[in-house]
Amino acid sequence: DATIEVRGLRKRYGPTVAVDDLSFTVGPGRVTGFVGPNGAGKSTTMRMIMGLDRPDGGTALVGGKPYRSLRTPLCRLGAMLDAAALHPARRARDHLLWLAHAGGIPARRVDTVIELTGLTGAARRRAGGFSLGMRQRLGIAAALLGDPPVLMFDEPVNGLDPEGITWIRGLLRSLAAEGRAVLVSSHLMSELEGGADHLVVIGRGRLIADTGVGELLDAA
Ligand code: ADP
Ligand code: ADP
Repeated sequence: DATIEVRGLRKRYGPTVAVDDLSFTVGPGRVTGFVGPNGAGKSTTMRMIMGLDRPDGGTALVGGKPYRSLRTPLCRLGAMLDAAALHPARRARDHLLWLAHAGGIPARRVDTVIELTGLTGAARRRAGGFSLGMRQRLGIAAALLGDPPVLMFDEPVNGLDPEGITWIRGLLRSLAAEGRAVLVSSHLMSELEGGADHLVVIGRGRLIADTGVGELLDAA
């Protein structure tokens, strides 16, 4: 249930090969770092996992099913792909209430995720005044609404201060410790140090390495 399986995924944008025969599995109970330079194809892969982009070939399964076939998608996969999709005039808590309502999720989950993401003091403020770090927290809160077994975050530490980075690391760790599958992307290997248990490294859309962090350190 708590898995993402990517098999032979391919995507081109005109002449650009964004994802090229990519296969990997994101397993339960660990944080999998998805690493590669800017333009390597991480976001495109994540968008295809969520059915936001149609692959030219291959499959992406969430808990064994294509995302688009899930009847309760927010309860199967939570994702933060873009922290910017917020209405500036909407208060943080109302934003989450609206998402919960649209996703058929009980409103009581809203206060749970507000607490989990440390947004209690900001819940009644308008999102327009939020710092990047606060917007990231709100995006993560939205991803956690459905209490999903699979989580996916695209560059969640971008623009965060060291305190925010430490906080996200701890949160991802505790989500994995609960048995969830967690995929987190970064263009910097150093950002995932001490945060990820497993690494999937890509370059130009192709798999470069798929390895446990322990095995990688043993080899070095
Ligand atoms: P990453 O997330 O690793 O930075 P992306 O998946 O965003 O990489 O991009 C992979 C490649 O696909 C890049 O060359 C990028 O310019 C290209 N690309 C991504 N999205 C589009 C799009 N909508 N239209 C055209 N090219 C795109
Ligand atoms: P699917 O058919 O999309 O695979 P299901 O309808 O079988 O999904 O439900 C998947 C999981 O989501 C179940 O474990 C269920 O308990 C949980 N779930 C369904 N609806 C809600 C909800 N409104 N709030 C929280 N969890 C829910």
